Amino acid sequence: MLNIGCHLSISNGFEAIGKQALQIGANTFQFFTRNPRGGAARKIDQADVDALTQLMRENGFSQILAHAPYTMNLCSSKAETREFAFNTLTDDLERMEYLPGNLYNFHPGSHTGQGTEAGTNQIIDALNNAMFPKMKTTVLLETMAGKGTEVGGKFEELAVIIDGVKYNDKIGVCLDTCHVFDAGYDIVNHFDEVLDEFDKVIGLDRLKAVHLNDSMNYLGCHKDRHQKIGEGAIGLEAFKKIINNCHINKLPILLETPNDIDGYAREIKLLKDMAQ
Ligand code: FE
Ligand code: FE
Ligand code: ZN
Repeated sequence: MLNIGCHLSISNGFEAIGKQALQIGANTFQFFTRNPRGGAARKIDQADVDALTQLMRENGFSQILAHAPYTMNLCSSKAETREFAFNTLTDDLERMEYLPGNLYNFHPGSHTGQGTEAGTNQIIDALNNAMFPKMKTTVLLETMAGKGTEVGGKFEELAVIIDGVKYNDKIGVCLDTCHVFDAGYDIVNHFDEVLDEFDKVIGLDRLKAVHLNDSMNYLGCHKDRHQKIGEGAIGLEAFKKIINNCHINKLPILLETPNDIDGYAREIKLLKDMAQ
């Protein structure tokens, strides 16, 4: 059985998001830790979190994914942007302990002209200061499309960050199919080779979650525009192969496709039907 779900809004609380996931046939989901544009996070209600934990246990949910806001740039050339990002990261990681044992995913960031090496060093420093020995969360670096000065469009860049992280058993990778395709990894014609490359450079044991998105653009375009499953340049055949791969089919798989809730329910059903 696949662990499949999609991005959902947390605006009605934790139990509500779990119920919504169930309604659309999901057994995992992703949510933003706070407004994607940044800002303060809502107060956590312990009873609400406990209700979600129970719902997840009773319904065989896999790990869920908390996604950091897009504005969290740990490697901006501007010190105040980095400081804001670091405070967000620290606060998010503390809050994640209310839902122990889950995944926290973030975009490594954009170096905004400082160069990749300076960028990866700043990301490593931030992680080493924000992560703590007792944390039960696994922090995930998302594979990026390599748009502009984005860090993480190459597996090598993620490997450098992982190598620098002190609490090394608490760091992994979330592979976004649209992003890696846009970054130039040909998952349509050479998916197995791309995974071999991932294994060689990062190690497949680091792969903890998948963002399943089709792409509006061509291989290597460095754009990052998600499309509905089967309606973009990646296509249904490739997704069938991806979700049935033995390194993928046990992981939480999250859709971030341009869909309303009914569209997500349809895509979840489509993918479950394609699972072998
Ligand atoms: Fe993302
Ligand atoms: Fe993503
Ligand atoms: Zn994206």
